[in-house]
Amino acid sequence: MDNPFQSYLTQLNQAAKVLKLDQQIIDQLAVPKRLVELNFPVKLDNGKIKIFKGFRSQFNNALGPYKGGIRFHSDVHRDEVIALSAWMTIKCAVADLPFGGGKGGVIVDPKKLSTKELKRLSQAYIRTLADFVGQDLDVPAPDVNTNPQIMAWMLAEYEKVKQIKEPGMLTGKPVSAGGSQGRTEATGLGGFFILRELLKMLKLKPPLTIAIQGFGNVGYWLADVAHQDGFKIVALSDSQGGIYNPDGLEPQKVLQHKQKTGSVINYSGSKKISNEKLLELKVDILVPAALENVINKSNAAKIKAKVVLELANGPVTPDADKILDKKGIVFVPDVLANSGGVTTSWLEWVQNKSGKYWPKPTVFKKLDTKMVKAFKDIWQESKKQRVNLRKAAYIVAIKRISRAMKK
Ligand code: NAD
Repeated sequence: MDNPFQSYLTQLNQAAKVLKLDQQIIDQLAVPKRLVELNFPVKLDNGKIKIFKGFRSQFNNALGPYKGGIRFHSDVHRDEVIALSAWMTIKCAVADLPFGGGKGGVIVDPKKLSTKELKRLSQAYIRTLADFVGQDLDVPAPDVNTNPQIMAWMLAEYEKVKQIKEPGMLTGKPVSAGGSQGRTEATGLGGFFILRELLKMLKLKPPLTIAIQGFGNVGYWLADVAHQDGFKIVALSDSQGGIYNPDGLEPQKVLQHKQKTGSVINYSGSKKISNEKLLELKVDILVPAALENVINKSNAAKIKAKVVLELANGPVTPDADKILDKKGIVFVPDVLANSGGVTTSWLEWVQNKSGKYWPKPTVFKKLDTKMVKAFKDIWQESKKQRVNLRKAAYIVAIKRISRAMKK
C-alpha cells in the first residue's frame, strides 16, 4: 500500500459508483467515526514517569462492534491508525462478520522496555481507553509487537477497572485466559481454504507448485497444510533470504532448521534464492506472506505465477494490480485471503459471549465454512460485475456496510 488510506478511498469510490451509493454514505465512509488520542503516564524501572502517546481509531460500527488490533511501534502515526481501521472495516465486512473496523497503536519501541515496563504500558493504555472498549463496543486484538500475553495483561486491567468479568472485550488471548483453540494456525489455514476454493473455480489440478515469501506464523501454517494436501512447496524465505528446491521442501523440517539456526537459509538440499527472485519464479501459486508493497510496478511484469494469494497485508500495490490483471494473473486480495485470523477472533468472541468452548477441530470446521462462504460471495460478485477479486471484495463489503448504515 503506497498510501494505504488513498488506496482505500480509491477502492471506496469505485465500489460506490458500481453500487450507485448516496454521497452522504460515501462521506461517512471517508472518515473515522471517532478517533481517541491518549497521552498516558507510565512509570519506568528507574522510577521516572514517561508520557506515551497512543490512539484508537473507531472507523465504522454499522455491522457490529469496532474490531482491530493494537500495534506497539515507534512509527505508529495517527493517519496510519486511521487507514488501518478503515481497512479492518472492509476486512470484517468481506468476511461477513458482525464487526465494524477499528485499530489502535502506541508510539513506542517495545524492544527498549523491560517486561515490567511493557506490562505497565499495556495496562496504562487500556486503563485510559477503558470507557471506549468492551465486548459490544470495541474489541481489540494483537497486531505488530503485541501478543497473547499483552492481551491477557490488558484484559485483566480492564476487568479490574470495570469490576466485571468480560473475556470477550478483546481477542487473541492465551487459551488459559479465554482464547480460542486454533488461533495460531488460523490465518495460514484460512488462506489455504480460500486457495482450495479458488483452484476449484480455476480448474487448476495437482500437482501444483507454491513459492512463499515470509516463513513466519502465517507462511509456515499455509506451507504445512498445503504440503500435507499434496502441493509442492518449491521456495520459502525469511528476512535473511530464500531457499529453492524444484523437487519440493518439507515445511516442518525447514521450521526445525530455522529454529536451530535462526533462518531458513542453508537448509540442506536447497539452493539459495533472493527474496526478489523468489517472487519471479515460474510457479503455480505465489504467496507473499511477509511485507507490504513487494509486488509493485517495477517487478509486476516479471511475475510468472498463475495465482497470487495475498497473505501479507498490502503486498501488491495498485499499479501492480493493473499489470497483474493485464497478464491474466488471478490475485486474491488480502482482505479475503488473510481474513482467517479475524474470523477466528470472531469465533473466540462468540465462545466468550456464550461461555461454551470448542475443541480445535470444531473451530477449524467453523472457520472452513465461514471462509468458503466469504470466498463464494466475492467470486460471484467478481463474475457478476466482471471485475477482479479485489474490486469485488470492496463492492461486497461496501454493499453490506452501506445497507446496515441505511437501516
Ligand atoms: P511473523 O513475524 O511471524 O513472520 C514474518 C515473516 O516474514 C518472518 O519469517 C520474517 O523473517 C519474514 N520477513 C521479514 N522481512 C522480510 C523480507 N524483507 N523479505 C522476506 N521475508 C521477510 O508475521 P506473521 O504473523 O506471519 O505475519 C505475516 C504477514 O501477514 C504480515 O503482513 C501480517 O500483517 C499479515 N497478517 C498476519 C495475521 C496473523 O494472524 N498473524 C493476520 C492477518 C495478516
